[in-house]
Amino acid sequence: MEKIIIIGSGPAGYTAAIYAARANLNPLLIEGPQLGGQLTITTEVENFPGYPDGVEPFQMMDDLRRQAERFGTRFVSGSVTKVNLSGDVKTIVVEDETTYETQSVIIATGASAKFLGIESEETYRGRGVSACATCDGFFYRKKTVAVVGGGDTACEEATYLAGLCEKVYLIVRKPFLRASQIMQDRVLTNPKIEVLFEHNTLRLTGEGKVQGADLIYRKGEADEQERHIAIDGFFLAIGHQPNTALFKDFVQLDAEGYIVVKEGQQTTCNGVFAAGDCCDPHYRQAIVAAGSGCKATMDAERYLKSLK
Ligand code: NDP
Repeated sequence: MEKIIIIGSGPAGYTAAIYAARANLNPLLIEGPQLGGQLTITTEVENFPGYPDGVEPFQMMDDLRRQAERFGTRFVSGSVTKVNLSGDVKTIVVEDETTYETQSVIIATGASAKFLGIESEETYRGRGVSACATCDGFFYRKKTVAVVGGGDTACEEATYLAGLCEKVYLIVRKPFLRASQIMQDRVLTNPKIEVLFEHNTLRLTGEGKVQGADLIYRKGEADEQERHIAIDGFFLAIGHQPNTALFKDFVQLDAEGYIVVKEGQQTTCNGVFAAGDCCDPHYRQAIVAAGSGCKATMDAERYLKSLK
């Protein structure tokens, strides 16, 4: 029987593990399908306190993992495929093979990139459609690509791709960007980036791979207009979906699927806590995730003491 199992290896999961290990809870951390979490698909982390010159995401996640390991965290690689969180003894199944029993659980499973939901996006998935510029940008050196979205992720990806590509279109559905001012400035002053405000994507075109996109300008307005752009790659950066489907029968989720937490990081299920992007629709920052991982462990520790 474990005292505490942490699910997820992003900043929230590793921070929860550091605190749990230092509290002698001998934590077991299940690392999930994306070791290091979403941060590992960004370019550089410039806003995590303690790294005045910025840090490579893999380096930062490795630092956090080593820190958790130093105090005795045990790691299991693989994905959780089934859980039963009701009752005092909770069970967690990894890869349909191994079942773990535990007194408490911290869910830190993060979120995944959203797609537009148009048919051609599926047709060309892996053949010109990507949700990760850092992972796939290299394939589009000296080519033309489009990024969809107007938030920080889209601006960051467009700026990164502009360093590799001949030209980058940024397709934004509103007449303005939602990103932070510094990211907006980087995009708007980059001569390789053309921002297409008030455009939506109708479909992608091409023979066997993405070669173009049909867009619509000011859909539904009197001056609505269709437009075709020639592109080699199409990058989605329109937000994220929390990875919480596995837990829906045991903890309350909000309308968008985020885990509802109350009184710190406590979920609606006794002995189950949540941290990071899986329960945070607002801030979604590594530093906030790390802070909530710390809080989740402190709450779990209090819960475990109450059992004795
Ligand atoms: P956001 O939710 O902030 O932005 C999503 C963007 O995608 C919006 O511009 C939105 O448009 C657009 N969008 C959503 N759905 C569609 C659709 N169906 N078609 C077209 N466009 C669509 O997500 P981000 O991933 O950019 O950022 C999430 C959080 O992470 C934010 O808090 C952000 O600040 C933070 N972040 C911080 C970074 C940093 O500080 N270095 C880097 C990356 C993210 P609309 O505006 O019209 O809703």
